[in-house]
Amino acid sequence: MSSEQPSLFELLPGEELYRQEKQLAAKEISSPFLPGVKEKEAFPGIKEVGQLEEVAQHCSKCRLRSTCRQVVFGDGELKSKIMFIGEGPGKDEDEQGRPFVGRAGQLLDKILVAAEIPRAQVYITNVVKCRPPGNRLPNPDEVRECRNYLEAQIRIMQPGIIVCLGAMASQVVIDPKASVSKIRGKWFSRQGVKIMATYHPAALLRNPAYKKAAWQDFQLIRDEYKKILAQG
Ligand code: SF4
Repeated sequence: MSSEQPSLFELLPGEELYRQEKQLAAKEISSPFLPGVKEKEAFPGIKEVGQLEEVAQHCSKCRLRSTCRQVVFGDGELKSKIMFIGEGPGKDEDEQGRPFVGRAGQLLDKILVAAEIPRAQVYITNVVKCRPPGNRLPNPDEVRECRNYLEAQIRIMQPGIIVCLGAMASQVVIDPKASVSKIRGKWFSRQGVKIMATYHPAALLRNPAYKKAAWQDFQLIRDEYKKILAQG
């Protein structure tokens, strides 16, 4: 046997490349998912959703908590492969403590039924967890504060698909300058997660003309979801 044979414990050039790629991927996965979020502010020590929710329930980091009834943290299957993200709780959600239970939520339920994605299988949350008074848009400082909970939800739950419902979620998750009408229906990929933006169900109620495009998006979402489920 030749003494030139390489040691089994030395990395061959291809293996070295593989090791470097793995290190890079690990580094990327450990960095914050949402643009602009600082890791140290997104509850790095919390490893369970229940624990995170407990913290959120006692949160008063922004003014929204002083006018809402309760914190609406999220709802659904904690091990879900798919996470839907809306803007913030409305009046019905504030009263019931669950996201997407008002008219827009009922429409979302119908779309999910049509797409053969049972609501019980999905996880739904919002960018801000407290209802903005009068259903106004959350202010940038409120979004900056509350997105840390969303970041932690994504880190802990590790969904395979994220669906951004409306402009606010799209701007927080995909790109601060995102316009839903321009980016909807396209898959984005980050840290192994597939992300799609589509219209918020409230926008579909206001503009029924958007329904056709939204249904096209949900068909793509359904197909990807089925693919991920089939992979196990
Ligand atoms: S909106 Fe978010 S950051 Fe503001 S008080 Fe509620 S949970 Fe805390």
